Amino acid sequence: MIKIERKMTEKARKAVESLEAARIKKRSYNTPQVNAALQEMFHGKCYICENKDITSYQIEHLYPYSKNIDLKYDWNNLFLSCAHCNNIKLDKYEPIIDCTKENVEKSIAFRKKGYFGTEEELLFELLDYRETTKNTQKLLREVYYGTTPQKKMEAKILRRILRKELSTFKEYVREYQEAEDEEKEDLRYLLKRQLGDASPFAAFKRWLIRDNKEAFPELMAYIDS
Ligand SMILES: [Zn+2]
Repeated sequence: MIKIERKMTEKARKAVESLEAARIKKRSYNTPQVNAALQEMFHGKCYICENKDITSYQIEHLYPYSKNIDLKYDWNNLFLSCAHCNNIKLDKYEPIIDCTKENVEKSIAFRKKGYFGTEEELLFELLDYRETTKNTQKLLREVYYGTTPQKKMEAKILRRILRKELSTFKEYVREYQEAEDEEKEDLRYLLKRQLGDASPFAAFKRWLIRDNKEAFPELMAYIDS
């Protein structure tokens, strides 16, 4: 999970208009305009697990709307998630960090320790002890490790995708370290993209650089905090 700016783009403006019309006519918030705007804003990534390799997208309400119908059509309450994360979250982790308002990486350190089998573990380390941070940590753990037998299977696939992404990223960093001049410039551009908001699992990649900041001072410039 990373901070995502909720910018009022042309697509977002159209989404807000379609939500207002849907609210008045008591229709679904799931409009084509809302979907297009969420795809743009979240770079096609699930806001919870940061996976981009998704077969089933859903619209997630940060705050459940069961007690307040206005939240159902509130653009600021709509997030893009995958079915796996949406079905785990439901309304069980109230409230979590609003990633459109806060930099989650300042509250949680995303780390993967170990390399093989049982040694390997994903860590979501608390950097503050607010209720929202603890709820977000719990949600992240359950998303990456699963709750029910089916969710555990899905979580395993998710961890496999994450592992591959991180190993490719580490490979680029290694090549960058060894490269010279022009090649180094190309790789720096590639790493800038890898550390950007649109990159899958950006929180893990950025924390890998933060944890090795003495070795990569120039890459730290691509991480906002
Ligand atoms: Zn997800």
